[in-house]
Amino acid sequence: MAARRQALRLAAHALEQRLNADTSDHVGAELPCPCGSTAQYHGRHAKTFESVLGLLQLERAYYYCGQCQSGFCPRDRDLGLESFSLTPGVLRMTASAAALLSFEESSGLLRELGGVEVSTKQVERAAEALGAEIAVDERQHVERMGEMAPTMYLGMDGTGVPMRAEEVADRAGKQADGSAKTREAKLVTIWTAESRDEEGKPVRDPGSITYSAAIESASTPDTSPNLSDFAARALREATRRGFTEAARPVLLGDGSTWIWNTATELFPQATQILDRFHAKEHLSTVRKAIYGDSLEGKGWIDLRYDELDEGRLKSLVEALHVHAGQYKEARECIHYIWKNRRRMRYPEFHKQGFCTSTGVVEAGCKVAIGTRLKRAGMHWTLEGANAIIALRCGKLSGRFEDFWERRCDQRKRA
Ligand SMILES: [Zn+2]
Repeated sequence: MAARRQALRLAAHALEQRLNADTSDHVGAELPCPCGSTAQYHGRHAKTFESVLGLLQLERAYYYCGQCQSGFCPRDRDLGLESFSLTPGVLRMTASAAALLSFEESSGLLRELGGVEVSTKQVERAAEALGAEIAVDERQHVERMGEMAPTMYLGMDGTGVPMRAEEVADRAGKQADGSAKTREAKLVTIWTAESRDEEGKPVRDPGSITYSAAIESASTPDTSPNLSDFAARALREATRRGFTEAARPVLLGDGSTWIWNTATELFPQATQILDRFHAKEHLSTVRKAIYGDSLEGKGWIDLRYDELDEGRLKSLVEALHVHAGQYKEARECIHYIWKNRRRMRYPEFHKQGFCTSTGVVEAGCKVAIGTRLKRAGMHWTLEGANAIIALRCGKLSGRFEDFWERRCDQRKRA
């Protein structure tokens, strides 16, 4: 570590000297100011930047505009140094860390592994700014990425993100008094499952999964010809992954109405499957209501799971009917099964070689959103949450690298 520190210090010193000896960024007494007026040369100004080599003190030509009372350094623009006193290299490291860890943990890890000092607040600002950029980039670039397969799976799900009080002040929610503490992030995830286990059952292909998500609406007024924000997102991700062109597109989701509405609107040709994982969760809620944790309940639920797996929905509903008078959970479950019966033809789906209980969608919400945004003490603004969701989904799905390359190219051209 000492040797590395010393090597970095030498390199930083050499770079500093080289840049400071070059005064070609002084391009005359005046420069046009972005405000439309003219900025005057005001000498060379020194400023400290955090770079991947450690601190760099750079002296740059400074131009000041009396009209808008602000100044700028042409070299900062050329070198991409306008972001939070971080060089692009450190900015990228910061974004990578913050996509995976809390801002505070990121700051600690950058110090320990990278030998660079980025405060918690700087991490937050930089990551949110870059997250907002990658969110825009995701909307603009829908080039094909990843491997296509004959059968492709698309899952949708939602999960609540804890918000700051002022962000949910006017929203109805699930709290006892009707208020809200969270807002729903909606996720679309796409994967393939061409691999087979020893029994010949389809298994998710490693590395095939991608995510895209945001806190946004999945509905539009009936009169609107436009897709909802979430439907547009799902369509972009489907296009990117070739889902729309797959021979056998499969949609997996739980029972939420917005999921199947979006699915039917966008991909009418796809086979809709109610994720068995969610169906079992529903049945287990009924079991808890009726039997609590008793052993009797265990026998009961095992029979219900068998009925579900074997597609015997009629006897499943009959077994629930016995309790429908007394338990609202049983009534709700009957309604749920009735509504989704065509999506629960599991034996038929299995004959066709489809995955029906992946847990991928459920895990997707945890991986893409929960583990980063739903930790103790976290409360988000809408902008902040969406920026970090975009950053994390981009990082987990391999879009971040393409985004960064485009960002560097744009700057080089400018
Ligand atoms: Zn100006």
